[in-house]
Amino acid sequence: MRNAIGVDVGGGSIRASLFDESGNEIKSQVSPTPDHLENDHFLKILKDTIRPLVKDGIGIGVGSPGPLDNERGVMISSANMLGLKNLPIKESLKQEFSLPVWYENDANCAALGEAYFGAYKNTESQLILTLGTGVGGGFVNKGILYSGYLGNGIEIGHTTSVIGGALCGCGVRGCVESYFSTRGLLSRYKEKSNQTLENAEEFFQLVRNNDPLAKEILDFGTLALAHAVRNAVHLLNPEAVVFVGGITKSYDLFGKILESEIRSSIFPVLNDRLKIGAGASLSGALGAASLVFSKEKV
Ligand SMILES: [Zn+2]
Repeated sequence: MRNAIGVDVGGGSIRASLFDESGNEIKSQVSPTPDHLENDHFLKILKDTIRPLVKDGIGIGVGSPGPLDNERGVMISSANMLGLKNLPIKESLKQEFSLPVWYENDANCAALGEAYFGAYKNTESQLILTLGTGVGGGFVNKGILYSGYLGNGIEIGHTTSVIGGALCGCGVRGCVESYFSTRGLLSRYKEKSNQTLENAEEFFQLVRNNDPLAKEILDFGTLALAHAVRNAVHLLNPEAVVFVGGITKSYDLFGKILESEIRSSIFPVLNDRLKIGAGASLSGALGAASLVFSKEKV
């Protein structure tokens, strides 16, 4: 049996899990990561989390937020753990465990996991958008992840959908992430009402309660997202566009409008063949493990 280890380096914790080829989680380990960590301390926690799983795995896949260099397997920096700089994840794990190791940004891992094990796994190519704190994206064609030069491709969250629009966390105005992500929706709400909402659930509850401002912000955000997807569909011509991530729990509130906006704005020939919908929102660890299964295919 060929089992793979997937490691999700998230905000506040590391999760390592062993998966079989059907994507079933066999066992897992979770370790909290304090905010103030230097490279050596972090690598020790990472190795200790993975160690109990290695004897049953054929390889290790790791996913984390960028920026990173996937060829050298280096995390360049981390927005959550500021003490980490040029962290040699791939080399350290290879040396420690004598297994092949792959490292990609977490949105790419999520895309690969969704393409292999998710709702649209039987399509030839998938553009996957992760709608969460920010907006991430990944493109998988015939089972192969397009990662871009050194692994920072398909940053669809930072494509412009409103010229001269709201200021994004990346420092530029009008990114789709400033309109359709937890951060974006809450910032737009605060801008217009001066009220601070705690999380996306609170925002979507307002929409469910027919709060006119929340509805207006969601409708505009949906339009902005539809345009970002339109641009990407014309570039990539995927068979399926799949939405995953926390915000898709409220897909019933925006999915219909989103899909019809995309469909009415793309070339008819693309529209006839394109599948659009919410995905399975699988775990980040499964996405990372998919790197191992994917490399076996190449
Ligand atoms: Zn941006």
